[in-house]
Amino acid sequence: MNVLLYPPYLQWEVISDCNHKCIHCYNYWRADNLDVVRHSDFDAITEKIIARKPVYMAVTGGEPLLVFDEIKPCIEKIINAGTRVSVSSNGTLITEEIAEFYARNNIDTVISFPSINPEICDSVCGSSGVVSKVKKSIAILKRHNVKATINIVLTKLNLPSLWETLKAVKEWGLTARIGIAQRPINASDEYMRYELNREDFRHIVRECIRAKHELMLDVDLSVCVPDCAFDSEEEYIAVEKGECYAGTIAYSIGTDGSVKACQCDIKTYGNILRDDFGEIYSRMSEWRNGGTIPRECESCGRVDICRGGCRVEAFARGNDRRTLPEFANLDNLPVNYRRTEKIVNFTDDTTFTVSNNVKFLKDAECYRVSSGILAVHLTNDFAKWLMDNLSFTFSELLSATGADKEELTLILNMLAKNNILIIQEN
Ligand code: SF4
Ligand code: SF4
Ligand code: SF4
Repeated sequence: MNVLLYPPYLQWEVISDCNHKCIHCYNYWRADNLDVVRHSDFDAITEKIIARKPVYMAVTGGEPLLVFDEIKPCIEKIINAGTRVSVSSNGTLITEEIAEFYARNNIDTVISFPSINPEICDSVCGSSGVVSKVKKSIAILKRHNVKATINIVLTKLNLPSLWETLKAVKEWGLTARIGIAQRPINASDEYMRYELNREDFRHIVRECIRAKHELMLDVDLSVCVPDCAFDSEEEYIAVEKGECYAGTIAYSIGTDGSVKACQCDIKTYGNILRDDFGEIYSRMSEWRNGGTIPRECESCGRVDICRGGCRVEAFARGNDRRTLPEFANLDNLPVNYRRTEKIVNFTDDTTFTVSNNVKFLKDAECYRVSSGILAVHLTNDFAKWLMDNLSFTFSELLSATGADKEELTLILNMLAKNNILIIQEN
């Protein structure tokens, strides 16, 4: 994909300011920077976002709830235009009104919460009384039946309380994601003192597996660590990790409208309020053409999926986007870990139906085909054929495309997995 005019996933950083000062925060480096924007042109950015038709938008900050009154109508407009929304906050400012708004709009709620231990929590957040504030917020969310995900971002400072924090999440009846702090650009000396190493990562993976078994907790990693950081296929399968779509099917809009591949990065590629989006996306090509991939990864068979881990953190470590991430372990190569995905084989008569809620959107060089928050990109010819043939058999598609049977089987499995197609039982 050389140009996408409608990448499906978007982060909108609505404010850089925050009521916390977490030692791991990537915003930390610009805390005293004049670029901090407290009140952006929310309405103008909202119109630009709606024009880009994202299927999913994550609202982030800073602390987005500091500007809740301003962003509330914007979020409503974006949802009404067909986008699903999540809001990530530190959970200290949630009110009855906010919880009611989340519930009414089916907003995915993420709370960044480092530790159930009050002393540790305040120390990580650079604030006071955080645990009791978050507990109060969770009680409010519960009254409105809002299910939150607790994101536990770890450094050595809060790692010792991880197990207790996971137990608290279980008691609250919520789900957890474990984030491993990524080194911020201009990381403070304090952060460096508490940065995690590869041994810590191994411990985190084991605790994650333990929490799944002993607590029956829905918990995985929220960060995109390299595949070779896992020491065994067993661990790789047991623990899901985040995936990086920065600069490919995802991008980020900052407080002033600046567009980045990822909100944690410092490099901007244009401004959504002023520049042509196709040109902005083209300028992000280094994220798609291998320009950010570590040299050590070039011969690795996993590079297309792993992409060498987080490229922003790599830059913070080596002042070079192609730096190998800390947790990558080349001793584990070659990495052939596989999550077993069941491939369904079809007969000539197997019938497929395009799901009712599927949306076809013409992009610059292809079609974006989406179902809810799942989106795939199909060639123009294939997408048009699907629009004209909402129900078809395997043999009909085979003769229409002249494609290889095995290749078509994989594509149809992928479309079924993304809820684009329904396989009819014969
Ligand atoms: S709560 Fe989030 S935005 Fe605020 S300082 Fe902590 S990490 Fe940064
Ligand atoms: S060598 Fe690079 S691409 Fe391969 S698994 Fe490790 S980090 Fe990922
Ligand atoms: S660049 Fe790093 S922080 Fe940004 S989405 Fe990718 S993995 Fe996540």
